Amino acid sequence: MRIAIAGGGFGGLTLARIPHRHGIGAVVYEREASRSARSQGGSLDLHPESGQRALADAGLASRFRSEARPEGEEHRILAPAGRTLVHHKPQPGSFSGRPEIDRGALRDLLLDSLPADTVLWQHRLVAATPRPDGGFRLTFAGGHSADCEVLIGADGARSVV
Ligand SMILES: Cc1cc2nc3c(=O)[nH]c(=O)nc-3n(C[C@H](O)[C@H](O)[C@H](O)COP(=O)(O)OP(=O)(O)OC[C@H]3O[C@@H](n4cnc5c(N)ncnc54)[C@H](O)[C@@H]3O)c2cc1C
Repeated sequence: MRIAIAGGGFGGLTLARIPHRHGIGAVVYEREASRSARSQGGSLDLHPESGQRALADAGLASRFRSEARPEGEEHRILAPAGRTLVHHKPQPGSFSGRPEIDRGALRDLLLDSLPADTVLWQHRLVAATPRPDGGFRLTFAGGHSADCEVLIGADGARSVV
């Protein structure tokens, strides 16, 4: 069964990684030219019940912990005169909150967990057309196409899928 995932962001790569752990392959079609085509931006925080849980299902919890920064959660709220009203300081090494991780590190972690040929770079999906016999015909910018039985849209906001 051919599984196609449109978009190689955090969602698409995680969706490729979890079945890969169970021997099920997928192809990720990503519009960017390569993994280093652009900086991935700043950091994000991952909650235990969502992002951290997905990485645990992907078998990547320990790698996440080696890259994440629980201390990034420390924050203070000060009164106008400078008096500290709130000072939240997480326990060192605790992952029960929402530790920060750099977006680039998180994407590398996911990419490195997949076979090198999983992501097809420079494949911007422009149309997904149902086939009469089931599945989809995928058309990419430039005119080339591919078929799949299962299509997962992970191409972010304004998804083509
Ligand atoms: C300012 C800001 C701060 C945030 N902070 C946090 C945070 O702290 N914690 C947190 O958990 N979340 C945070 N988020 C949300 C988080 O960034 C998103 O939930 C996450 O990026 C969604 O992942 P995704 O893979 O679904 O989509 P995206 O990250 O948007 O990835 C989509 C991928 O699909 C590719 N693509 C798009 N169109 C096509 C196409 N037609 N063909 C092929 N490829 C395509 C794109 O190039 C991209 O690689 C924040 C978001 C913003 C904007």
